[in-house]
Amino acid sequence: MNKAILLHKRPVGMPVLSDFLMLKEEMPVPAEGELLLKTMYVSVDPYLRGRMNEAKSYIPPFELNKPIQSAIIAEVISSNQTDFKKGDFVSGHLEWKEYQVSTGKGLVKVNEKEAKLTAYLGILGMTGLTAYLGLTEIGLPKANETLVVSGAGGAVGSIVGQLGKLMGCKVVGITGSDEKADMLTGKFKFDQAINYKTTPDLKKAIRNTCPDGIDIYFDNVGGEISDAVLMNINKYARIPLCGAISLYNTTSVPMGPRLQPLLLTKSATMRGFIIGDFYKKFPEASTQLGIWLKEGKITFSETIVDGFDNIPQAFLDLFEGKNDGKMIVKV
Ligand code: NDP
Repeated sequence: MNKAILLHKRPVGMPVLSDFLMLKEEMPVPAEGELLLKTMYVSVDPYLRGRMNEAKSYIPPFELNKPIQSAIIAEVISSNQTDFKKGDFVSGHLEWKEYQVSTGKGLVKVNEKEAKLTAYLGILGMTGLTAYLGLTEIGLPKANETLVVSGAGGAVGSIVGQLGKLMGCKVVGITGSDEKADMLTGKFKFDQAINYKTTPDLKKAIRNTCPDGIDIYFDNVGGEISDAVLMNINKYARIPLCGAISLYNTTSVPMGPRLQPLLLTKSATMRGFIIGDFYKKFPEASTQLGIWLKEGKITFSETIVDGFDNIPQAFLDLFEGKNDGKMIVKV
């Protein structure tokens, strides 16, 4: 029998396991022109939370009682077409199923001789593109500038900080544990890291850590952390607004500082983006990330959870900060 994970209920606030349903179904059989895929690695991402709401957004909501989809690495088990053959590894936007059929549309072959397969879900996938293009297209980093990254111990943030260092910035990361703070200044060579969970006055701590002010704030989390960072920006600061995970599970609109006077008087630019906005630059960005990875100029961290049945829990754990680097489920 095959297994699938469906969205059973639309979460209210923080999602819970009963919002998901595990279904057993007959094994799929590929028709003429189709492939049979076996799921190997599943990416769980904070943005999936938005797709669980009914609300209209840049991407349609998941349908109730239909399998959830995310980026997946799969192996081709059998093929009734010539573009893909048995034994190929592919990356694509696929369903949370152990086995599924596909026409091959939207699938990209990935090569395990070039990089670890999981890297195609992280640094060589959407995560890396988000870090690279958000930073270079909106952050516009220059040598000797100060870059602050929130969500710094996670998949996107840990890459942003390393890219900032390569571009000559002073880099400060904000993260949720001392272990992750040590990883940022150790493995990822950030200049400094702040644990927001144990720092009573974040605004002051950031001011002390960034005595020359902040030129770029790469925002992955929004909310109070971002309020504290923004109070320390310099004139002409750039703020790539990549994510707002601290607000994804809120059920009412929280009140924060009104930012208009600040952005105005600092001549600052805050720009939200969805990575697809930059699709024309994907080839160039992927090539550059691949080169730096091979040269050892950037690296990555990943948290691999074992077992198909644990996909929903791994997704929930993102909101508890249980991952460092990219959260992936090995099936
Ligand atoms: P991460 O790997 O960073 O995982 C999420 C992390 O967020 C957790 O580990 C946790 O770390 C932190 N976090 C969770 N809850 C809170 C909270 N309430 N306040 C502060 N931090 C919290 O995920 P990604 O790197 O994949 O994504 C990072 C952000 O970028 C997300 O907001 C995501 O939606 C966004 N994104 C946007 C894209 C775009 O196209 N704009 C594309 C990809 C991602 P900690 O221990 O520090 O709390």
